[in-house]
Amino acid sequence: PYEVLIVGGGPAGAAAAIYAARKGIRTALVAERFGGQVMDTMGIENFISVNYTEGPKLVASLEEHVKEYDVEVFTEQTASGLSAATAEGGYTQVELESGATLSGRSVILATGARWREMNVPGEQEYRSKGVAYCPHCDGPLFKGKRVAVIGGGNSGIEAAIDLAGIVEHVTVLEFADTLRADEVLQRKARSMPNIKIIKSAQTTEVRGDGKKVVGLTYTDRETQESKQVDVAGIFVQIGLIPNTDWLKGGPVTLSKHGEIEIDSRGATSLPGVFAAGDVTTVPFKQIIIAMGAGSTAALGAFDYLIRTPAP
Ligand code: FAD
Repeated sequence: PYEVLIVGGGPAGAAAAIYAARKGIRTALVAERFGGQVMDTMGIENFISVNYTEGPKLVASLEEHVKEYDVEVFTEQTASGLSAATAEGGYTQVELESGATLSGRSVILATGARWREMNVPGEQEYRSKGVAYCPHCDGPLFKGKRVAVIGGGNSGIEAAIDLAGIVEHVTVLEFADTLRADEVLQRKARSMPNIKIIKSAQTTEVRGDGKKVVGLTYTDRETQESKQVDVAGIFVQIGLIPNTDWLKGGPVTLSKHGEIEIDSRGATSLPGVFAAGDVTTVPFKQIIIAMGAGSTAALGAFDYLIRTPAP
C-alpha cells in the first residue's frame, strides 16, 4: 500500500509523482504507457522556457526526472476500477486489468484523454503532416496557408476564429445542417472575412502528396456530390474523449461529458482521491497546464494525508 498512488503517466501523472515523492511519502505510479499523448506529439513549441522540443524527447526527460526519486513505476498496466476506502483516511483500491489491486491512502487520477478521429483514409498517414488536433499547438505552423477545421461545435468554431488570425483562410466543415456552437461564436466567425462555413459536409478523405496534406474530399450530404477543398492543414475538432470509461458508475463524480470534476486543489468528490490534467473538467488541455495540475493534485493529496489520520 502507498500513501500516494497515481494512475496515469503523462505530464500530469509524472508531475504529481515528483511532487509527492519530494515530500518523502511512499509513492507509486501505474500507467498503460509512460508519456501519454506527448509520445504522439512531434514538435512542441509552447512548453514555456523550451523554444522547441519533440514529444519523445520530452517524455525521456520526464522519465529521467521521475527516476531521480523514489517512485515505484508500473507500466503496461491498465486500471479497470476504483473502490472507495471503507473508512475515512483508509485505502482507496485501484483494480487492474491484470487482476492485481493496488491501494493508496490518497489516489491521483491522471488518465488523460484522446482526440476523436474522423476515421477516413489518409488521416493516420498524414497525422502531424498536416492533420492536426490542437490549434494552440499547431496553428502557427500554417501561417499564411489555407486550412480546414472539421466540426462546427464550440471547439471547431473557436479553432476557426483562433486560426483565422494566423492563417490565410479557414474552411469549416460541419456534418449536420446546423452548427452546434454557441451563437456568439458563430456570429464572431461569420464576421471574419477569411472563414467559410460549409454545412451538411461529410469529410471522406484526407488527400496528400505522399509527404504532406494537400486537401480533403467531402460529400455534400444534400446533393450527394463529392467535392474537394485544397488546404495545407486539417484541424479535427470533433471531440476530446476523457479516459474515464473505467470510472463510470463508480464513486467519483463525472461531468456530463465524462470528465472528472475537481476543485481548485484537484480534489474529486471522493475524499482522498484527486485528479489532474486532460481527464478532468479543466477547460484547457495542454502539457504545461497538465503539469501544473498534477503538482496541485499532489500538494492537495499531501495536505489531505497530514490532516487525515489512518483509521
Ligand atoms: P495524457 O498525456 O493523456 O496521459 C494519460 C496517461 O494515462 C498515459 O500514461 C496513459 O497511458 C494513462 N492511462 C490512460 N488510461 C489508463 C488506464 N485505464 N489505466 C492506466 N493508465 C491509463 N499540448 C501542448 O501543450 N503542446 C503541444 O504542442 C501539444 N501537441 C499535441 C499534439 C498531439 C498530437 C496531441 C494528441 C496532444 C497534444 N498536446 C499538446 C496536448 C497534450 O499532449 C495533453 O494536454 C497532455 O499530454 C495531457 O496530459 P495528461 O497527463 O493529462 O494526459
